[in-house]
Amino acid sequence: MNFELTPEFAAQLDAQDELAAFREKFVVADPDLLYLDGNSLGRLPQATRGRLQEVIEQQWGQRLIRGWNEGWLEAPHNIGDKIAQLIGAQPGEVLLGDSTSANLFKLAVAALKARPGRPKIVSDALNFPSDLYIFQGIAEMLGQGHTLKLIPSRDGIHIQPADVAEALDEQTALLSLTHVAFKSAFMYDLQAITAQAHAAGALTLWDLSHSAGAVPLHLSAWGVDLAVGCTYKYLNGGPGAPAFLYVRRELQNQLMQPIWGWFAAKNPFAFELDFAPAEGLERFRGGTPPMLSLLAIDPAVDILLEAGIERLRAKSVQQSEYLLSLARAWLLPLGFRLGSPEDSRQRGSHISLRHPEAYRINRAMLARSVIPDFRAPDNLRLGIAPIYTTYGEIYRALEIIRQITAEKIYLQYSNERLPVT
Ligand SMILES: *Cc1c(COP(=O)(O)O)cnc(C)c1O
Repeated sequence: MNFELTPEFAAQLDAQDELAAFREKFVVADPDLLYLDGNSLGRLPQATRGRLQEVIEQQWGQRLIRGWNEGWLEAPHNIGDKIAQLIGAQPGEVLLGDSTSANLFKLAVAALKARPGRPKIVSDALNFPSDLYIFQGIAEMLGQGHTLKLIPSRDGIHIQPADVAEALDEQTALLSLTHVAFKSAFMYDLQAITAQAHAAGALTLWDLSHSAGAVPLHLSAWGVDLAVGCTYKYLNGGPGAPAFLYVRRELQNQLMQPIWGWFAAKNPFAFELDFAPAEGLERFRGGTPPMLSLLAIDPAVDILLEAGIERLRAKSVQQSEYLLSLARAWLLPLGFRLGSPEDSRQRGSHISLRHPEAYRINRAMLARSVIPDFRAPDNLRLGIAPIYTTYGEIYRALEIIRQITAEKIYLQYSNERLPVT
């Protein structure tokens, strides 16, 4: 599609957008705020306000502990089943609870235990550092000589399939990658890479934090073993909302995670002194789940299911191409470089633009009510959340970045880093 780079054309794209009405399902407290950070923290759905009020007043306030027998106990499974529809998993394969980091820890240990004698964990140099720290900690904790092998990136943006193939061998227990890279938005061919790992006899553990709710996935059909992912990014579940984990059904009773809390036990309320694991997905629970933040995920996921993941992806691709047209015309001539793949089939739902002054440009944007985020050393990351991002927002945000850079307005801002960038 050829985009005209005018505000009128942006307005026309918004008028033609079949998902445009979904924006009204979210709280837009400041209509002038240009929010391009839904990939870090999604907006608040209108329905969540009422739901949390009901949970607090009717459920917790009135029902008190009876709530556990009135839906709370099953909520991690029931909401998990809804997320399963977004990521192409079967009912009973997705569970909510704990953070992404904690879930990654649980599933990675379970996988390594299931591949004794294979000391290698394979990941990549574009992965989110928290994931790599978790693997390093596991290797140290298990004390069985596990090593972490990182597939390099030749250009800081992509990973080559040949480099993945080279890293996998009969020593590999686990291949664990983030499907959409947090900086560059590079997106793996998840099905092909999973098949490569299986051919080497390894298990696969995918981090879907930047994919769930933005990119269609077919975990069951693609034979994926294990996965984890965030609910506060594209799923709009709220700050620190509990993450999800996925375990392929055939593997559920073969694997065991290391946190043997009572919720993972066969019969928690028998209070037996020796642990026996529950059957199925239940054994991947730990302790009592955080009910208030967990229940907030439910109305948020309903909105995405109503919009449909295929339509969301189509809009995300078109908005990304639109953003790139503006960036090529306005920003590349001002010293920006593209930090994301050119090809939309290899890209998730954000675009990174690199500039030596990216941090100060980011600060100047914040002062003008444009919210991107900054990822060291020089990435300005612009997130597209197709459920509520408008073409008009993208147009105005890029116009402001152009002005800040062309007029060197960023020189007025300090290079001193804020705690959260
Ligand atoms: C956001 C993100 C996380 C976050 O993990 P938490 O445990 O919620 O802090 C993990 N992995 C990836 C790839 C992410 O993008």
